[in-house]
Amino acid sequence: MTIFARIIDKEIPADIVYEDDRCLAFRDVNPVAPTHVLVIPKKPIVGLGTADADDAALLGHLMWVAAEVARSEGIAAGGYRVVTNFGANGGQSVDHLHLHVLGGRAMRWPPG
Ligand code: AMP
Repeated sequence: MTIFARIIDKEIPADIVYEDDRCLAFRDVNPVAPTHVLVIPKKPIVGLGTADADDAALLGHLMWVAAEVARSEGIAAGGYRVVTNFGANGGQSVDHLHLHVLGGRAMRWPPG
């Protein structure tokens, strides 16, 4: 069981900013931008690379929720970044699919 599964089950606390029947969004404990929210599915998908065709609608929903979070956090007008890390080279550290919603400052490209 990952730490995110424990957050979904409310076994450990998180600063939740959005929740519905399919997903949860909460503030990253180690923010790298003034606004840094994680959007995760309640379904235990390891990462983008392990999602299958049946998950396509859920993946789209997560993206929509990311945009909703950006609006509710007040970063939509200024622009923001949504990113998911997968696997070792992607820099993934928690094996439960998550979208990072980052905003409140200018992002650089390419990422390091
Ligand atoms: P990644 O490196 O893409 O797998 O991102 C995992 C993210 O989860 C990191 O930005 C961590 O700071 C964040 N994180 C880890 N544990 C927690 C937690 N208990 N609550 C909130 N965010 C967490």
